[in-house]
Amino acid sequence: MSYQFITSAKLPTRHGEFDIHIFENDDGQEHVMLTVGLFAVDQNQDQISDVGQDDTPIERPLPLIRIHSECLTGDAFSSLKCDCGPQLNTAMQAIQETGCGAILYLRQEGRGIGLTNKIRAYALQDQGHDTLDANLMLGLPADARIYDMCGPMLAHVGVDAVRLITNNPDKVAYLTEHGIEVVERVPLLVGVNDMNAEYLATKRDRMGHLLDKDFNTALHLNK
Ligand SMILES: [Zn+2]
Repeated sequence: MSYQFITSAKLPTRHGEFDIHIFENDDGQEHVMLTVGLFAVDQNQDQISDVGQDDTPIERPLPLIRIHSECLTGDAFSSLKCDCGPQLNTAMQAIQETGCGAILYLRQEGRGIGLTNKIRAYALQDQGHDTLDANLMLGLPADARIYDMCGPMLAHVGVDAVRLITNNPDKVAYLTEHGIEVVERVPLLVGVNDMNAEYLATKRDRMGHLLDKDFNTALHLNK
């Protein structure tokens, strides 16, 4: 699968102003990147365009990056069944405060199984099954996400070393294997509530996510 940069524009948000970049894969599926303090590499000259007047590169801090997979119910509807909405908002805020970074917003709803299957899995969860078993009962993988769009998206803005906001060791491993140095993993724990504590515990205990044992020390984002 190849990924093509399509277009970009300014996007003011309540967290501050981002640049929004649209990418498309061969099937026409769109992925989105929000950036602060990052600029498109000039594809022709293979140079980063953020140079000073005398053509010396401008020093920039190590970019703070969040790879976020679309969650319509959490991101748009403030669902309490997961922690996606608070994670997205906290990451956007942290990247604004850092002044250099990006949200890679990947259109792979429901850990890659799609919205309809996610809601089917929610129905099984309503009957008492956990997030992992619900997927397995539907004959679906626990996690069907892919990350191969991240390399081209980061390359578009000349990023090859990052501070990565994540609790998911798979994302660290993926980037590392694909030539992007993860200099620091920044843990994130926000949006824990009575309704998703069990979901988070499943991600920690059965899916390898790196979460604090009791959630109680709330690994606030390291600035
Ligand atoms: Zn979610």
